[in-house]
Amino acid sequence: MLNQDINRIVIAGGGTAGWMAAAALSKLIGRKLDISLVESDQIPTIGVGEATIPTILTINRLLQIPEPDFLKAVQGTFKLGIEFENWKHLGHRYIHSFGDTGRGSWAAGFHHFWLKGMQDGISKPYGDYCAELKAAEQSKFAVLSKHKLNYAYHLDAGLYAGYLRGIAEQHGVRRVEGKITDVRCNPSNGYIDSLLLESGQIIEGDLFIDCTGFRGFLIEGALKTGFEDWTHWLPCDSAQAVQTESVSEPIPYTRSIARDSGWQWRIPLQHRVGNGLVYCSKYLSDDEAADTLLNNIEGERLTEPRVIKYRTGQRNQYWNKNCIALGLASGFIEPLESTSIHFIQNGIMWLLLMFPHQGITPSLVNQYNATLRREAEHIRDFIIMHYHVTERDDTEFWNYCRTMSIPDSLRHRLDLFRESGRVFKPQDDVFAENSWVQVMMGQGITPEQYHPIVDTMADGELQSFLQGLEGNVKQLVGQLPAHGEFVKRYCERAGG
Ligand SMILES: Cc1cc2nc3c(=O)[nH]c(=O)nc-3n(C[C@H](O)[C@H](O)[C@H](O)COP(=O)(O)OP(=O)(O)OC[C@H]3O[C@@H](n4cnc5c(N)ncnc54)[C@H](O)[C@@H]3O)c2cc1C
Repeated sequence: MLNQDINRIVIAGGGTAGWMAAAALSKLIGRKLDISLVESDQIPTIGVGEATIPTILTINRLLQIPEPDFLKAVQGTFKLGIEFENWKHLGHRYIHSFGDTGRGSWAAGFHHFWLKGMQDGISKPYGDYCAELKAAEQSKFAVLSKHKLNYAYHLDAGLYAGYLRGIAEQHGVRRVEGKITDVRCNPSNGYIDSLLLESGQIIEGDLFIDCTGFRGFLIEGALKTGFEDWTHWLPCDSAQAVQTESVSEPIPYTRSIARDSGWQWRIPLQHRVGNGLVYCSKYLSDDEAADTLLNNIEGERLTEPRVIKYRTGQRNQYWNKNCIALGLASGFIEPLESTSIHFIQNGIMWLLLMFPHQGITPSLVNQYNATLRREAEHIRDFIIMHYHVTERDDTEFWNYCRTMSIPDSLRHRLDLFRESGRVFKPQDDVFAENSWVQVMMGQGITPEQYHPIVDTMADGELQSFLQGLEGNVKQLVGQLPAHGEFVKRYCERAGG
């Protein structure tokens, strides 16, 4: 408990997490606060984290960021979803799009109608009823005023942090260059009083936001908060990243290609492509991983492969005493569904909603921690599902993933869907029902039954319903320009 007004905020770390926190706090409640951010040029940022999910549009809207300016500044492209190749079995592919597929009824999602149509031999592939998915396949895109597509962005991580820094500094955030060498805590209550920099400078504060990356210099180094390990469910613990020249027009989706002991990403930006391999060091050495990655890239290499080691899991507390961890300092699930930047944004939004302006109380801290833990656990389950629901039995890694034990919460969701096609989405799950359906069916689960409400449709009604939906998708996608062409035109609208 800290019975004092919170006025001085100290953000430790200037990666995506630090600068996003600085931009959001300063722009949205900054007039009441004194905010400083400490970062060290000697310690590089992680330099990956270039694919997002549609929630990024919410924070951009709150920060009043004009989209063409943003896209130009971060060399961004649009993202309509992720293509998963070789995940169900070698040679198989499906897209998890951000769109709504078809149209359901109050009692049953569209997939129930589609399943009946499959039994009757009148359904087209599930993705044919989703505009975002078909647009992705055809590499088309536009920002429409009517029938808006659901999308996110691919962006350059370094440029993104720089862009957020610009907003933060404009709104009064003070940047302090220097390496933090010690965290000084109050001996009476263990709360953080100040950070000591290598230069001898002391930065005092009331609330500290730890954005120091995997090391968690404050939350773990000083406060010994503890870590809940998820390696047994998410066994990949290494990644290598390399940037290449673009050799073709950027596509509006991320590629995730399953390999023998992990998976490879390809993220198309305007000026280059981000590539990486995520893998499990128990089954693949760093040298083998570098070979796998370099044998599967296109275009000239712009950087050397860089090895990143990590542990999947979450801190026991996201908020401990007067310290809140954001970004990699708070834990790491896995980059597979590009959820980390979303989770940073989420932590910031909850902090703003629960801002402890008159002091830190146990009820605020407990509520914040419980909320973030639940949200992280839904994301964790969604990602574990991709690894676990597979037919792959061609390597030790995939055999482990296919047969490993999974959280009860995920087991329940899979059983429910398999038996009845039902998906009950908790409110605090960032992934929509259609996301779960696309991935469950994409990875190979077909429900044994559909909802009986579908049988209330008269003969021929289901067929014309399905045909109508498919026609709408074709018509909409038919009007869209090529994605690459749209990005160029759109960025020309940027001011300044
Ligand atoms: C392989 C991989 C792929 C990923 N892909 C995605 C993706 O596609 N989408 C997504 O949303 N997320 C992704 N992520 C996660 C994403 O990279 C991070 O969430 C995001 O970059 C935020 O990082 P950060 O700011 O927490 O840490 P960092 O970028 O590591 O920044 C840490 C900061 O702390 C500073 N610092 C550290 N110690 C000190 C000290 N002692 N003194 C002073 N300063 C210090 C450093 O200088 C730096 O500024 C990926 C992560 C990995 C590992």
